[in-house]
Amino acid sequence: MSKVLVIGCGGVASVAIQKCCQVSEVFTELCIASRTKSKCDDLAAKLIGKTQTKITTAQVDADDVQQLIDLIKSYQPDLVMNVALPYQDLTIMDACLACGVNYMDTANYEPENTDDPEWRAIYEKRCKEEGFSAYFDYSWQWAYREKFEKAGLMALLGCGFDPGVTQAYCAYAKKHEFDTIDTIDILDCNGGDHGYAFATNFNPEVNLREVSAPGSYWEDGHWVEIPAMSIKREYNFDQVGDKDMYLLHHEEIESLAQTIPEAKRIRFFMTFGQSYLDHMRCLEDVGMLSTSPIEFEGHQIVPIKFLKALLPDPASLGPRTKGKTNIGCIFTGKQDGQEKTYYIYNICDHEECYREVGSQGVSYTTGVPAMCGALMMLTGKWNKPGVYTVDELDPDPFLDALDQHGLPRSETHHPVLVP
Ligand code: NDP
Repeated sequence: MSKVLVIGCGGVASVAIQKCCQVSEVFTELCIASRTKSKCDDLAAKLIGKTQTKITTAQVDADDVQQLIDLIKSYQPDLVMNVALPYQDLTIMDACLACGVNYMDTANYEPENTDDPEWRAIYEKRCKEEGFSAYFDYSWQWAYREKFEKAGLMALLGCGFDPGVTQAYCAYAKKHEFDTIDTIDILDCNGGDHGYAFATNFNPEVNLREVSAPGSYWEDGHWVEIPAMSIKREYNFDQVGDKDMYLLHHEEIESLAQTIPEAKRIRFFMTFGQSYLDHMRCLEDVGMLSTSPIEFEGHQIVPIKFLKALLPDPASLGPRTKGKTNIGCIFTGKQDGQEKTYYIYNICDHEECYREVGSQGVSYTTGVPAMCGALMMLTGKWNKPGVYTVDELDPDPFLDALDQHGLPRSETHHPVLVP
């Protein structure tokens, strides 16, 4: 019996909300609130009559803490689920603290305006001290640990697939498969084809910022940074086949380096097709990925925002996408003094996702873990005051919930390792 306020109503939110409505004995009431209320109303209209969950909608600008506080106070939820953009993480956390409500999200904070001098000074110091230069990192949200602890509230960070499920896979490997983990390779393969020469599977702005950033990995206690897309490997993925994958910086490496401190190396790879890479390089070369405003015919235009307006909406890719995703983690390490390897992963079929919830697999593989994370918090299985990433929590009930709600795990103890 709980009330949840969902903020955002894009591709990921649409799946998370529909999945919450399949578990209406826990999610008894939902308020869908976003910048564009008509999207919330459309989704609510699609669901009313098909679920026992009582759904209401609201308009909110989540960049505005006072608007959030007013909405939270009037709705009085047990949990705020942030499935808007990473830009809103801190304002929503502030509002949750002000109202005494638990918080969760699917991606760690990054600023919308990377030219903001105050943010930039902190960012540049962090790049120098930590050795990686992605715009996003956990420091902003980890700084809220004490505030959430003192308030007796919980904040769950990054509960999508990666970050999210990949960290639960690591916690599971550590709990059940290994005494010590030596290496972790996180492999994110999207074998889907949407038929467009170029489109992104989730918010284009956030996606292109992530993919065009320098890559980095954790090795022997420090970050190693490399030029974007400069480490490439080929891997044969179960039910997908051979794909080229590239080493990227990814947020879970940062938390895993702390929760599995014995790991000598942690890497993240994502598959990309040649057409995606060619388009991205070209757009970057002409300045279309820039987040700094330019003057154009008397208007201030942010190139990457203009590009977002031209690209297909990721939420519209559902009916066109065929193929499967395969995301998981390969471990090497020791148990009872013996060397061993282990691979745990999920395979998800884009067309099956579309049949179930009208979305492609990337929204599905993010929205289902968001619902399952909320389920863990609302049923008290994850209930600790403070700010946590998924790798710090018990993986067992979460992985059981994912098995049950559409993202079952597969595993092998004899994986092919990534060179
Ligand atoms: P979309 O762009 O499809 O949706 C974002 C939603 O947030 C839209 O409804 C948008 O409203 C709303 N929004 C944006 N700004 C505001 C604001 N100021 N106030 C209120 N609402 C706002 O994004 P996705 O659904 O693709 O992604 C959602 C989140 O999931 C992102 O944080 C993304 O990084 C994360 N993600 C995480 C993954 C993981 O595995 N962990 C994988 C993929 C995504 P409007 O309709 O008006 O634009």
